[in-house]
Amino acid sequence: MKVTIVGCWGGFPRKLEATSGYLLQEDGFNLLVDCGSGVLSQLQAYIDVEDLDAVILSHYHHDHIADIGPLQFARLVKSHTGSKLPELPIYGHRFNEGEFQRLSYKGFTVGEEYNPAVPITIGPFKISFLQTRHPVPCYAMRIEGQNHTVVYSADTSYQEEFFDFFRGADLLLMESNLYKGMDGASIGHTTSEEAGILAKESNVRQLVLTHLPHFGDLDQLVKEAEEKFDGPVTLAKSGYVWDGEKI
Ligand code: ZN
Repeated sequence: MKVTIVGCWGGFPRKLEATSGYLLQEDGFNLLVDCGSGVLSQLQAYIDVEDLDAVILSHYHHDHIADIGPLQFARLVKSHTGSKLPELPIYGHRFNEGEFQRLSYKGFTVGEEYNPAVPITIGPFKISFLQTRHPVPCYAMRIEGQNHTVVYSADTSYQEEFFDFFRGADLLLMESNLYKGMDGASIGHTTSEEAGILAKESNVRQLVLTHLPHFGDLDQLVKEAEEKFDGPVTLAKSGYVWDGEKI
């Protein structure tokens, strides 16, 4: 499995970058996990819009879905100016019905419901879910490919339920929107220190800190996570590629 970080900022994109978006590739299948602000532009650095096979969304906050509309227009424009594209499935939960309805667009994209209690298969990936602690319904994902397992926290504050859910994964994409000592529980986000604890307790191979804050010294996030987790800790970066090997 190959993972490319398309965007990694929390809330809004830093100049010329993007908020949440992760491209997962295996056996020629291209899955986009979350589609935040700036993701559609950045995505085209790696694949053509026509080559996207599926999208899956953790929740419906702007910084995870803002580019769904532009993606729908892109599929429309490409279909009218090139060969007709297949309907692009966009997987989302149905606990915000109005948001879910907007995933379907004129035969160019179609909303596909996932029931978080039931694992699903999308292309070569088997995906299971765990509800996070966030102000709106939001789901972490455990994504298993042929040889590797990637876990994605989505947006959440700290919870011990992640210990088993993340257990033994090759890569943990963990939000770290806050620094050590800050109060994540009240706003539904995780600190760097908590990210380190989660990586340690679930015994993952590598921790990537993402959903980054727009304040402070980001290298400090890494140092604080490393105080808890002995494995490699990486700060997410636009264009960072993970191909199954430890960095
Ligand atoms: Zn959110």
